Amino acid sequence: MGADGLLYEGKAKKLFQTENPNVLRVEYKDEATAFNGEKMDEVAGKARLNNELSALFFAKMNAAGLPTHFIERTSSTEQLVKKTRILPLEVVVRNIVAGSLQRRTGIAEGRELTQPIVEYYYKDDELGDPLLNEDHIRLVEAATPPELKQMRELALQTNEALTAAVRAAGLLLVDFKLEFGLTEDGELVVSDEISPDTCRFWDEQTREKLDKDVYRYGLGELTDTYEQILERMGGSVS
Ligand code: UDP
Repeated sequence: MGADGLLYEGKAKKLFQTENPNVLRVEYKDEATAFNGEKMDEVAGKARLNNELSALFFAKMNAAGLPTHFIERTSSTEQLVKKTRILPLEVVVRNIVAGSLQRRTGIAEGRELTQPIVEYYYKDDELGDPLLNEDHIRLVEAATPPELKQMRELALQTNEALTAAVRAAGLLLVDFKLEFGLTEDGELVVSDEISPDTCRFWDEQTREKLDKDVYRYGLGELTDTYEQILERMGGSVS
C-alpha cells in the first residue's frame, strides 16, 4: 500500500483506504481503454462523468432495495464504497444481441431477446476472461452454488431496475456487466461500477449507440456521448 492509502490502481479507477476499515474511496480516472488495453487514451472529463453516472445508477439501485457497495459521491471524481472481497466473475446480462453474443452465435446485432441471458466470465487476464458455465464456476471455485444463485437473481433484478430507469430517458439497456463482492458481514453486493463503460445504451428511437462502443469503434466523442447519457438521466452536467 502507498503512503497515500492507495490499495489498487486499475485502468479506470484507483482505490484508497479511509480511516474506516470497512469503507474505501474510489477515484475515477480520465483513462479510456478498449480491446484489453490495446486501445488507450487520456480523455479529459471521463472521470467526472463515470463517477456521476455510476453514483446515479447505484443510488437508484439502493433506493430499489438492491444491495450495492455504494455509499455516497464525495467529489466530482470520487465516491465512498463499502469494502468488499470481489468474486472473480464478471456477470453479463443481455436484452438485445450485440458484441460478443453476436460474434459467438452469428445472430444479427439488434435482435431483441425474448428473455434476458445471463453470462459469467472468469476474471483471469492470463486466460483472457473466458466464458464459464455454472459447472465450471463450481470447478474453479469462483463462487459457491448459493452465491451464484444469488448473483443471478440480483443481476436480473438489477436488469429490471436499470431497464426501467433508462427507459424513462428514451434509452434501451442492451447489455451490461456487473461485479459482485462480499462485505465484512458476508453480504453479497453489486460492486465496481455501472456506467457507459460497462453498459450498452442505445437511443430507443434511432438505436444510436450511446456508450463505450463510440470509443471502441471511433463512432464519436466519448465525453459528448456520456454527457448526453448524464443529461438524459437527469444528472448534473456542471
Ligand atoms: N463489459 C465490460 N467489461 C468487460 C467486458 C464486457 O464492462 O471486460 C461489458 C460491455 O461494455 C457490454 C457487456 O459487458 O456492455 C457485454 O460485453 P460483450 O461480452 O458483448 O463484449 P465486447 O463486445 O464488449 O467485447
